[in-house]
Order: sequence, then structure tokens, then C-alpha cells
Amino acid sequence: MTYKKVLISGAGIAGPTLAFWLGHAGFEPTLIECAPALRTSGYVIDFWGLGYDIAERMGLANEINRVGYHIREMRVVNDNGDRITGLGTRVFRELTGGRFVTLGRSDLSRLLFDKVRGTTETIFGDEIISLREQSDGVEVQFRNAKTRRFDLVIGADGLHSNVRRLIFGPQDQFERQLGYYVAAFEVEGYRPRDESVYVIYSQPGRMLGRFALHEDRTLFLFVFTFDRSVPVSDVATQKAILREQFGDGTWECPRILDKLDRTESLYFDRVSQIKMEHWSRGRIALVGDAAFCVSLMAGQGSALAITAAYVMAGELAKAAGRHAEAFHNYEALLRGYMGAKQRGAERFSSAFAPRTRLGLFLRNQVIKACAIPGLSRLAFGRDIVDKLALPNYHWL
Ligand SMILES: Cc1cc2nc3c(=O)[nH]c(=O)nc-3n(C[C@H](O)[C@H](O)[C@H](O)COP(=O)(O)OP(=O)(O)OC[C@H]3O[C@@H](n4cnc5c(N)ncnc54)[C@H](O)[C@@H]3O)c2cc1C
Repeated sequence: MTYKKVLISGAGIAGPTLAFWLGHAGFEPTLIECAPALRTSGYVIDFWGLGYDIAERMGLANEINRVGYHIREMRVVNDNGDRITGLGTRVFRELTGGRFVTLGRSDLSRLLFDKVRGTTETIFGDEIISLREQSDGVEVQFRNAKTRRFDLVIGADGLHSNVRRLIFGPQDQFERQLGYYVAAFEVEGYRPRDESVYVIYSQPGRMLGRFALHEDRTLFLFVFTFDRSVPVSDVATQKAILREQFGDGTWECPRILDKLDRTESLYFDRVSQIKMEHWSRGRIALVGDAAFCVSLMAGQGSALAITAAYVMAGELAKAAGRHAEAFHNYEALLRGYMGAKQRGAERFSSAFAPRTRLGLFLRNQVIKACAIPGLSRLAFGRDIVDKLALPNYHWL
């Protein structure tokens, strides 16, 4: 083995997965996470495909299904809360052979991290501030910890990747905004609850979803078109924008906005993709959203982050740590696949929160049509079924 010590920035989805598989290939990974602890709230994700297969290989299938949800329907409601139309989820279960689950992103992150907890050095509440590549390693300066050397550094630090900025330059060179913002928060004890149903209320350019979580919690998800820029950490401004956008909404909007006023933990971000010419430079590489964020419109970013982490570890193992060869093969295997996922997400994005009443009407007609046997398979089959064959890597 030529190289052993690998620093991974980010303990979200890709980071712990990479640490797990690198450990199985004889490397010594270290995780660094800027948050003081694993994040506990956020939003729910649909999880299937290659990411599910890899999680299963990590021994997580039972746990994922235990903490997850098996949604029956995505239900579209009108101003009075009456059902206009809905999309049954049977088609997703059929297309994936029953290997389809919805779960909290933070639950998935915790389950992945539990697989390396105690065996992988993890530094919380710190971040990389400079990376200096040398012929035999990378000198890493941290905000708090002392400077250290690693053989390789991998950025698994998400859409707003720090490693990408330090090595490749500012985010705006690589970010393609899809024209939406997304926000999410959770409350306890909200009524009504619709178990196993994702309830959606739409107005032109705006969508508000309600989802019943375990332990009497409810998740609210806002997606809306917005062309001004919003400060990343200014929660008061973010709440004011949500009020401005959804304040004239009927259905449960007034009640949900009241709950929003009282929440302390709000997820708020742009809906964007990341498109880069290369995912590595020298001894430093990117995985997951940091490299190729597909956006929430793909409904598969976590699974893709897991797939990329697995392939990265596998290629490093196969190349006995020769990073140039491994990074090249990692990219050659995944670039076309991730590009296709990004294009699928772009196609879908206009249907998510149509900007006009006519657009909304047409979207609802398409959802209605999906009740016709065979049509939903036709509509979703291309995007749901994963066609990439994972190589067989040799693990210790
Ligand atoms: C509303 C919404 C819905 C979604 N729905 C789905 C879905 O249905 N299905 C699906 O599969 N995916 C979905 N996604 C996408 C999915 O959440 C992401 O693709 C996935 O989380 C990417 O994993 P990652 O590990 O690359 O990045 P992240 O999960 O973003 O993890 C990055 C980690 O890096 C840390 N970090 C950030 N900066 C630094 C730094 N400077 N130093 C150290 N650490 C840092 C962060 O704190 C975080 O822990 C959705 C996303 C959103 C926003």
C-alpha cells in the first residue's frame, strides 16, 4: 500500500460511507466535521437503488427499514385540504423490488456514522482552513487543531464544499441554480396527521409539504421560486421570506407559519447542482454533493453520495493507493452516470413547483394519468432503475 492516511472533510452521508469502506481496504481514515455533533434534524429523503444495495452490504438494511417510513401516497390537496389527486408509491416499490424507503437524512447519516464510530478518528467542531500539496502528502491546517500531514484529502462536505473552494475556487464557478429555494423544519404535536402520506399544497411557484414523522413529530417542506440571494445563516431573514412567500396561502399555511415563527432549527438553502470538469486535483478529490450535487429534484442524492464513496474507496483499494490511477478510474466510472442523473433532475424540476396555474393544472393531470396501469412505470422507470454495474472490489 503506497498511501494510508486519508482525511475526509464532512460527516454527512458520503463521509462516513467512505470512512467505512476505506477502513475495509486497509487505509486509516480521519473524519473532520464542522458541526459540533452529527446533525439531528433536516428533512426526509427517498432511498433506493445502488445506495440502498451498498447500505445493505454495510449491514444496514434492517435498521434503515426500522427507522424509515413506507409511504403509501403523495397526495395533492386544494385550499380546503381536499384531495385533488395523488400518486401511489406502489410503482416505486415494484420498480425497485421493494427496496425503497423514506427516512430522515439525519437518521441515515447517523446509521452510517455508527458503522465507524469508535474505530475512525473523528474531529467535530473543526474545519480545514488550508491545504498545501507536497510531493509526498498534503499539509493540512485546521481552524482549531494543530497542522497535520495526510497522504490524501477527500472533500465530502456537501453542496457548499470547503475543500472544493480551497482547491478549485469559488462555488459560483460550479454551481447551477435551478431557480428554487428549499426550507424545512419539524414540530411536535401538530394536527392533523396523515400517516404514511406526503401531503402537498401548491400555488404557482410555491409548494408546501407536510409529512408525519415518528414520535408525533411533523416535518414541513417549502419549495419556492425566488431570484434574490439569501444570507446562508440569517434565520430571521429566512423566516421573513417564507412568510412573504406563503403568507397569502390558504390550506394550513397560516398555522404552519405560526409554528415556523417559534422554531429555532430551520433548514434553508438554494436548490442547485454542481458541475465540474474534474473531481480531483493531485492528492485531493471530491465525493458526493461536493463533486456532482444532483439536487433534491433527483430524489437520489444520498444514494449517489454513497455510491461515489464506495467506488472511491474501491478504486483506491484496487490501485493499492496510487491516487492518480484511482481518482481517474473513479471519475471514468461515474461521470456519465451522474451527468444523466443531473439531466433527469433538471427535467423534473419544472414539475416540482410549476410557476403558473396552467402549469399546476397540467402537473395534476399528469399525476392523475399515472393511476392508469403501466403509465407510471413508463413515466418513472427511466429515472428509478439504476443501470450502473458496480465493479467487484476486494475488501480485507
Ligand atoms: C430538501 C431536500 C430533499 C432531498 N431529498 C432527497 C431524496 O429524496 N433522496 C436522496 O437520496 N437525496 C435527497 N436529497 C439530497 C441529499 O440530502 C444529498 O444529496 C446528500 O445529503 C449528499 O450527501 P453528502 O454527504 O455529499 O453531503 P451532506 O449530506 O450535505 O453532508 C456534508 C457534511 O459536510 C459537513 N460540512 C460542511 N462544510 C464543512 C466544512 N467546512 N468542514 C467540515 N465539514 C463540513 C456538513 O456539516 C455535513 O455534515 C435531498 C436534499 C434536500 C435539500
